[in-house]
Amino acid sequence: MKFLFCGSGASEGIPALFCSCEICGKARSRGGKEMRSRTAYQFGESVRIDFGPDLFGQQNRYGLRLDRLEHLFITHSHKDHFTPLNFIYRRPQYVPLEKTLYLHAGEDIIEQTEKVLKENGSDFAECLITPVESVFFRSEEIDAEGEKMTVTPLPSDHLPAGKTRIYEIAYREKRVLVGTDSGIYPNETWNYFKGRHYDLAVMDATSGILGLRQVHMGRECLVETVKRLRQMGVYDDCTLVIANHFSHNGKMNHDDLEAYYGPRNIHVGFDGLEIDFSGHGRLVL
Ligand SMILES: [Zn+2]
Ligand SMILES: [Zn+2]
Ligand SMILES: [Zn+2]
Repeated sequence: MKFLFCGSGASEGIPALFCSCEICGKARSRGGKEMRSRTAYQFGESVRIDFGPDLFGQQNRYGLRLDRLEHLFITHSHKDHFTPLNFIYRRPQYVPLEKTLYLHAGEDIIEQTEKVLKENGSDFAECLITPVESVFFRSEEIDAEGEKMTVTPLPSDHLPAGKTRIYEIAYREKRVLVGTDSGIYPNETWNYFKGRHYDLAVMDATSGILGLRQVHMGRECLVETVKRLRQMGVYDDCTLVIANHFSHNGKMNHDDLEAYYGPRNIHVGFDGLEIDFSGHGRLVL
Protein backbone atom coordinates (compact mmCIF):
# COMPACT_ATOMS: atom_id res chain seq x y z
CA MET A 1 0.00 0.00 0.00
CA LYS A 2 1.18 3.50 -0.79
CA PHE A 3 0.74 6.69 1.21
CA LEU A 4 0.22 9.59 -1.19
CA PHE A 5 0.43 13.32 -0.58
CA CYS A 6 -2.47 14.39 -2.81
CA GLY A 7 -1.79 18.01 -1.90
CA SER A 8 0.72 20.04 0.11
CA GLY A 9 -0.67 23.58 0.15
CA ALA A 10 -2.63 25.61 2.68
CA SER A 11 -6.07 27.10 2.04
CA GLU A 12 -5.18 29.36 -0.89
CA GLY A 13 -2.81 26.89 -2.59
CA ILE A 14 0.45 27.87 -4.34
CA PRO A 15 0.44 29.78 -6.61
CA ALA A 16 -2.43 31.33 -4.70
CA LEU A 17 -5.49 32.32 -6.65
CA PHE A 18 -5.35 36.04 -7.59
CA CYS A 19 -1.85 36.45 -6.07
CA SER A 20 0.98 38.58 -7.45
CA CYS A 21 3.57 37.94 -4.70
CA GLU A 22 7.17 36.87 -5.35
CA ILE A 23 6.69 33.35 -3.96
CA CYS A 24 3.76 32.68 -6.28
CA GLY A 25 5.61 34.27 -9.22
CA LYS A 26 8.57 31.92 -8.71
CA ALA A 27 6.19 28.98 -8.31
CA ARG A 28 4.50 29.81 -11.62
CA SER A 29 7.77 30.06 -13.51
CA ARG A 30 9.39 26.96 -11.95
CA GLY A 31 6.37 24.64 -11.83
CA GLY A 32 6.92 21.08 -10.49
CA LYS A 33 7.17 20.79 -6.70
CA GLU A 34 6.33 24.50 -6.33
CA MET A 35 2.73 23.89 -7.41
CA ARG A 36 0.73 23.03 -4.31
CA SER A 37 -2.89 21.96 -4.32
CA ARG A 38 -4.83 21.81 -1.06
CA THR A 39 -3.58 19.27 1.48
CA ALA A 40 -5.09 15.80 1.51
CA TYR A 41 -3.67 12.28 1.82
CA GLN A 42 -4.55 8.80 0.61
CA PHE A 43 -3.59 5.30 1.69
CA GLY A 44 -4.00 3.18 -1.42
CA GLU A 45 -7.34 3.57 -3.15
CA SER A 46 -9.65 3.02 -0.22
CA VAL A 47 -8.61 5.36 2.59
CA ARG A 48 -8.44 9.13 2.32
CA ILE A 49 -7.86 12.02 4.72
CA ASP A 50 -9.66 15.24 3.75
CA PHE A 51 -11.89 16.18 0.90
CA GLY A 52 -11.17 19.71 -0.24
CA PRO A 53 -11.72 21.81 -3.35
CA ASP A 54 -8.96 20.04 -5.34
CA LEU A 55 -10.53 16.58 -5.22
CA PHE A 56 -11.37 16.53 -8.94
CA GLY A 57 -7.92 17.71 -10.05
CA GLN A 58 -6.17 15.27 -7.68
CA GLN A 59 -8.30 12.40 -9.02
CA ASN A 60 -7.10 13.18 -12.52
CA ARG A 61 -3.47 13.86 -11.70
CA TYR A 62 -2.93 10.63 -9.71
CA GLY A 63 -5.42 8.39 -11.51
CA LEU A 64 -7.40 7.93 -8.28
CA ARG A 65 -10.44 5.68 -8.49
CA LEU A 66 -12.77 7.46 -6.09
CA ASP A 67 -15.41 4.78 -6.72
CA ARG A 68 -13.08 2.54 -4.68
CA LEU A 69 -12.87 4.95 -1.76
CA GLU A 70 -14.36 3.36 1.36
CA HIS A 71 -13.08 5.31 4.35
CA LEU A 72 -12.93 9.09 4.39
CA PHE A 73 -11.53 10.87 7.45
CA ILE A 74 -12.05 14.61 7.84
CA THR A 75 -9.60 16.52 10.03
CA HIS A 76 -11.70 19.68 10.42
CA SER A 77 -14.22 21.96 8.76
CA HIS A 78 -11.88 24.48 7.08
CA LYS A 79 -12.68 24.96 3.41
CA ASP A 80 -9.34 23.65 2.16
CA HIS A 81 -10.07 20.28 3.83
CA PHE A 82 -13.80 19.86 3.58
CA THR A 83 -15.92 20.63 0.52
CA PRO A 84 -19.23 18.91 1.22
CA LEU A 85 -20.50 19.68 -2.29
CA ASN A 86 -18.17 16.89 -3.48
CA PHE A 87 -20.62 14.41 -1.92
CA ILE A 88 -23.47 15.53 -4.21
CA TYR A 89 -21.81 13.77 -7.13
CA ARG A 90 -22.57 10.44 -5.48
CA ARG A 91 -26.26 10.93 -6.32
CA PRO A 92 -27.71 8.19 -8.59
CA GLN A 93 -28.41 10.61 -11.43
CA TYR A 94 -24.65 11.22 -11.71
CA VAL A 95 -23.11 7.80 -11.01
CA PRO A 96 -24.03 4.19 -10.40
CA LEU A 97 -22.58 3.51 -6.93
CA GLU A 98 -21.56 0.14 -5.57
CA LYS A 99 -19.52 0.85 -2.45
CA THR A 100 -20.62 2.49 0.77
CA LEU A 101 -18.44 5.39 1.83
CA TYR A 102 -17.80 5.57 5.57
CA LEU A 103 -17.46 9.20 6.62
CA HIS A 104 -15.36 9.30 9.81
CA ALA A 105 -15.62 12.80 11.25
CA GLY A 106 -16.69 15.02 14.12
CA GLU A 107 -20.33 15.77 14.77
CA ASP A 108 -19.99 19.25 13.17
CA ILE A 109 -18.77 17.76 9.87
CA ILE A 110 -21.47 15.10 9.82
CA GLU A 111 -24.15 17.76 10.46
CA GLN A 112 -22.79 20.03 7.73
CA THR A 113 -22.69 17.17 5.25
CA GLU A 114 -26.27 16.25 6.05
CA LYS A 115 -27.33 19.88 5.59
CA VAL A 116 -25.64 20.26 2.19
CA LEU A 117 -27.09 16.95 0.99
CA LYS A 118 -30.55 18.07 2.12
CA GLU A 119 -30.24 21.46 0.41
CA ASN A 120 -29.53 19.54 -2.78
CA GLY A 121 -32.49 17.19 -2.37
CA SER A 122 -30.46 14.22 -1.19
CA ASP A 123 -29.43 12.35 1.95
CA PHE A 124 -26.86 9.90 3.31
CA ALA A 125 -28.84 6.84 2.22
CA GLU A 126 -29.20 7.97 -1.40
CA CYS A 127 -25.48 8.78 -1.63
CA LEU A 128 -24.45 5.51 0.07
CA ILE A 129 -22.70 7.32 2.90
CA THR A 130 -22.51 5.94 6.42
CA PRO A 131 -21.43 8.56 8.94
CA VAL A 132 -19.23 7.32 11.79
CA GLU A 133 -18.73 9.81 14.60
CA SER A 134 -15.07 10.26 15.39
CA VAL A 135 -14.25 10.55 19.10
CA PHE A 136 -10.82 11.74 20.31
CA PHE A 137 -8.53 8.89 21.43
CA ARG A 138 -11.05 6.24 20.36
CA SER A 139 -9.38 3.94 17.82
CA GLU A 140 -11.31 2.71 14.81
CA GLU A 141 -10.33 -0.50 13.12
CA ILE A 142 -11.02 -0.48 9.40
CA ASP A 143 -10.46 -2.85 6.53
CA ALA A 144 -7.96 -1.27 4.15
CA GLU A 145 -7.95 -3.37 1.01
CA GLY A 146 -8.08 -6.62 2.96
CA GLU A 147 -5.73 -5.60 5.78
CA LYS A 148 -6.34 -4.15 9.18
CA MET A 149 -5.71 -0.44 9.70
CA THR A 150 -6.24 1.28 13.04
CA VAL A 151 -6.95 5.00 13.04
CA THR A 152 -6.90 7.06 16.23
CA PRO A 153 -8.00 10.72 16.17
CA LEU A 154 -6.06 13.03 18.49
CA PRO A 155 -6.86 16.65 19.38
CA SER A 156 -4.84 19.22 17.45
CA ASP A 157 -4.23 22.90 18.21
CA HIS A 158 -6.33 24.45 15.47
CA LEU A 159 -9.70 26.08 14.72
CA PRO A 160 -12.58 25.75 15.40
CA ALA A 161 -11.19 25.07 18.89
CA GLY A 162 -11.81 21.59 20.24
CA LYS A 163 -13.15 20.28 16.93
CA THR A 164 -10.00 19.56 14.96
CA ARG A 165 -8.01 16.38 14.79
CA ILE A 166 -4.75 14.84 13.72
CA TYR A 167 -4.44 11.07 13.26
CA GLU A 168 -2.31 8.19 14.38
CA ILE A 169 -2.54 5.38 11.87
CA ALA A 170 -1.29 1.85 12.43
CA TYR A 171 -0.84 -0.41 9.41
CA ARG A 172 1.14 -3.68 9.55
CA GLU A 173 4.08 -2.91 11.85
CA LYS A 174 4.21 0.79 10.93
CA ARG A 175 2.87 3.79 12.84
CA VAL A 176 2.13 7.08 11.12
CA LEU A 177 1.28 10.49 12.55
CA VAL A 178 -0.64 12.77 10.20
CA GLY A 179 -0.21 16.00 12.12
CA THR A 180 -0.92 18.88 9.73
CA ASP A 181 -3.17 21.83 10.59
CA SER A 182 -1.92 22.21 14.13
CA GLY A 183 0.18 24.46 16.28
CA ILE A 184 2.05 22.92 19.24
CA TYR A 185 -0.22 20.06 20.25
CA PRO A 186 -2.53 20.25 23.29
CA ASN A 187 -1.31 18.66 26.55
CA GLU A 188 -3.61 15.66 26.24
CA THR A 189 -2.02 14.86 22.87
CA TRP A 190 1.50 15.21 24.33
CA ASN A 191 0.46 12.80 27.08
CA TYR A 192 -0.76 10.35 24.46
CA PHE A 193 2.62 10.53 22.66
CA LYS A 194 4.48 9.29 25.78
CA GLY A 195 5.89 5.81 25.11
CA ARG A 196 4.84 5.83 21.45
CA HIS A 197 6.97 5.70 18.33
CA TYR A 198 6.24 6.79 14.76
CA ASP A 199 7.87 5.55 11.56
CA LEU A 200 6.45 8.44 9.57
CA ALA A 201 5.33 11.84 10.80
CA VAL A 202 3.81 14.61 8.70
CA MET A 203 4.04 17.97 10.45
CA ASP A 204 2.45 21.37 9.96
CA ALA A 205 4.75 23.95 8.36
CA THR A 206 2.18 26.48 7.19
CA SER A 207 3.60 29.77 8.30
CA GLY A 208 7.28 29.45 7.26
CA ILE A 209 9.29 32.45 8.41
CA LEU A 210 6.33 34.09 10.18
CA GLY A 211 6.95 32.27 13.45
CA LEU A 212 3.46 31.05 14.35
CA ARG A 213 3.20 28.67 17.30
CA GLN A 214 -0.54 28.35 17.70
CA VAL A 215 -3.14 27.13 15.16
CA HIS A 216 -0.30 26.56 12.68
CA MET A 217 3.47 26.21 12.99
CA GLY A 218 6.22 28.43 11.69
CA ARG A 219 9.56 26.83 10.87
CA GLU A 220 11.22 27.39 14.28
CA CYS A 221 8.21 25.97 16.08
CA LEU A 222 8.21 22.90 13.86
CA VAL A 223 11.91 22.29 14.51
CA GLU A 224 11.42 22.72 18.29
CA THR A 225 8.46 20.33 18.25
CA VAL A 226 10.41 17.70 16.31
CA LYS A 227 13.31 18.12 18.76
CA ARG A 228 11.00 17.57 21.74
CA LEU A 229 9.50 14.46 20.10
CA ARG A 230 13.01 13.13 19.33
CA GLN A 231 14.05 13.70 22.97
CA MET A 232 10.97 11.76 24.09
CA GLY A 233 11.88 8.89 21.74
CA VAL A 234 8.59 9.32 19.88
CA TYR A 235 10.71 10.04 16.80
CA ASP A 236 14.12 8.42 16.30
CA ASP A 237 16.70 8.04 13.52
CA CYS A 238 14.31 5.72 11.66
CA THR A 239 11.43 8.20 11.68
CA LEU A 240 10.76 9.89 8.39
CA VAL A 241 9.69 13.43 9.34
CA ILE A 242 8.04 15.45 6.59
CA ALA A 243 6.97 19.10 6.78
CA ASN A 244 3.78 19.84 4.85
CA HIS A 245 0.82 22.26 4.36
CA PHE A 246 2.57 25.39 3.07
CA SER A 247 1.21 28.88 2.52
CA HIS A 248 2.76 31.46 0.20
CA ASN A 249 2.40 33.82 3.17
CA GLY A 250 5.14 31.76 4.87
CA LYS A 251 7.45 33.31 2.23
CA MET A 252 9.41 30.18 1.35
CA ASN A 253 9.67 28.48 -2.03
CA HIS A 254 10.47 24.78 -2.25
CA ASP A 255 14.26 25.37 -2.46
CA ASP A 256 14.12 27.68 0.60
CA LEU A 257 12.22 24.98 2.49
CA GLU A 258 14.76 22.29 1.54
CA ALA A 259 17.68 24.54 2.50
CA TYR A 260 16.14 25.16 5.93
CA TYR A 261 14.71 21.75 6.81
CA GLY A 262 17.23 19.45 5.04
CA PRO A 263 20.14 19.99 7.48
CA ARG A 264 17.67 19.36 10.34
CA ASN A 265 16.80 15.95 8.92
CA ILE A 266 13.27 17.01 8.01
CA HIS A 267 11.97 16.36 4.51
CA VAL A 268 9.75 18.73 2.56
CA GLY A 269 6.37 17.60 1.28
CA PHE A 270 5.11 18.17 -2.25
CA ASP A 271 2.12 17.18 -4.33
CA GLY A 272 2.53 13.59 -5.50
CA LEU A 273 5.06 12.51 -2.83
CA GLU A 274 4.57 8.78 -2.25
CA ILE A 275 5.79 6.43 0.48
CA ASP A 276 5.57 2.68 0.01
CA PHE A 277 4.29 0.70 3.01
CA SER A 278 4.44 -2.72 1.40
CA GLY A 279 7.99 -3.67 2.42
CA HIS A 280 9.62 -4.32 5.78
CA GLY A 281 12.31 -2.22 7.43
CA ARG A 282 12.41 1.55 7.60
CA LEU A 283 10.34 3.73 5.34
CA VAL A 284 12.11 5.67 2.61
CA LEU A 285 11.15 8.46 0.26
ZN1 LIG B 1 -5.51 23.63 6.05
ZN1 LIG C 1 1.37 34.60 -3.38
ZN1 LIG D 1 -7.31 24.45 8.89
